[in-house]
Amino acid sequence: MNLTPYQNEPYLDYTAPDNKEKMRQALEKVRNQLGQTYPLWIDGKELRSDKVEQSVNPARHKEVIGYVSQADASAVEKAIQAASSAFETWRHTSFEERALYLVKAAAIMRRRKQELCAWQILESGKNWAEADADVAEAIDFLEFYARQAVRLGKGQKLHPYPGEDNRLEYLPLGVGIVIPPWNFPLAILAGMTTSAIVTGNTVLLKPAPQSSVMAAKFIEILQEIHLPQGVVNFVPGPPEEIGDLMVGHRDTRFISFTGSKATGLHIDELAHRKLDGQRWLKRVIAEMGGKDGIVVDETADLDAAAEGIVKSAFGFQGQKCSAGSRAIIHEKIYDELVKKVLEETKALKMGAPADNYPVGPVIDRKAFDKVTGYIEIGNQENTLLLGGHADDSEGYYIQPTIFGDCTRESQIMKEEIFGPVLSLCKVSSFEEGIDVYNDTEYGLTGGVFSRDRSRLEYARKHMMCGNLYLNRKCTGALVGVQPFGGFNMSGTDSKAGGEDYLLNFVQAKVVTEAF
Ligand code: GLU
Repeated sequence: MNLTPYQNEPYLDYTAPDNKEKMRQALEKVRNQLGQTYPLWIDGKELRSDKVEQSVNPARHKEVIGYVSQADASAVEKAIQAASSAFETWRHTSFEERALYLVKAAAIMRRRKQELCAWQILESGKNWAEADADVAEAIDFLEFYARQAVRLGKGQKLHPYPGEDNRLEYLPLGVGIVIPPWNFPLAILAGMTTSAIVTGNTVLLKPAPQSSVMAAKFIEILQEIHLPQGVVNFVPGPPEEIGDLMVGHRDTRFISFTGSKATGLHIDELAHRKLDGQRWLKRVIAEMGGKDGIVVDETADLDAAAEGIVKSAFGFQGQKCSAGSRAIIHEKIYDELVKKVLEETKALKMGAPADNYPVGPVIDRKAFDKVTGYIEIGNQENTLLLGGHADDSEGYYIQPTIFGDCTRESQIMKEEIFGPVLSLCKVSSFEEGIDVYNDTEYGLTGGVFSRDRSRLEYARKHMMCGNLYLNRKCTGALVGVQPFGGFNMSGTDSKAGGEDYLLNFVQAKVVTEAF
């Protein structure tokens, strides 16, 4: 096998008239395909169920993106059987052979890039650059895991021992459950699914309802590459009805989950109950969110800090688990920096993602209610500095909102909001700032803006998070460059897009032969 070295997929330049035009055409083409019904895919067969769920445009909730067939308990049983029987063959294919499926799928995504972007602009409310970044990341995951799989396929180099041959090889685990989130509708879904299968496992993929048409598009790509039947089984459905069934099933071996803390904890508990006849301890790989923050000291470049804070807080309306929803600022520069942050935020216009406004809607009614609920709490406990208005008449729009005078005890400094709400907190020393940053049960991303080398080193040592960014925004980790995942209630720190990630889906076997 002879692949080019891994490289991150470049972003499209939408200031180029050519790319702009292509995007407009892709949106037009996708608009003409709205409202179709998508089937389940089990054991290589498309199945339509009586029950369908609609996925709507969050910017225009009357517009249906598509209808997605819903799996019930019997469909899930069928999918588990299909995955179990496919595992018996798939597990014996080579890492290299499996890697080629990923490289092929990446090539298709590259060719269909604008169209895939258009689907998520309409279904998820991403602006053009956010959609492009998601599709580029999906391609990166495929290319990166393909190469990592080839490396893993070589086993581990062991210390030679006289009179013996010792070898270590990596075996797959079995049937896995993949439950991705809606906020990176192609990237995280593709990364979670393909990391599990490239290592020889077979899976049930249960997409997030809010982005299930994008998931169905991913399944179309798997069909196009002729992925053998039963390796991936597509089972959208209501979490209460089928989620627990899959996670708690005796025959499932691991669960790969990205989503909320509450669901992650529930899955973790359920997965670790041993059932009669169950022969293994299930593995849970979980990525569960964050209450991320940026600390700024009095030596910082304040323009850079303001830009970093605003991008981290409001990119994709703050709907990233990496979103910097807290800014912790030294009192000496608090007023000056807050002024800059407010100015930058005011410049962010809100409107339809299809028209490429920087700020779009939040994903659905539930998110709208949750975020506006936190704005009410902020209004009671803190000082509203900007925004605060919300309008759900056409789409789920919430203005970028900033609260000042937040203390470490404020509820909006503690809980994950997952929306366009930023809390500002004043501190009297850098060390206090780090202490406030660490005062959370999460530990995903963090940032520091400072020109003081010793403080940057202090932050390196003392900030408890999986991804720390010095003098830049705290979102937008790149596959292979910044392996992504967090500590504590942010999950299992499994580092998606890192060289260790595939180890989550294998078990090592050592064979010793004596002569
Ligand atoms: N990897 C993304 C980032 O670095 C965040 C992923 C997520 O929100 O789940 O911004």
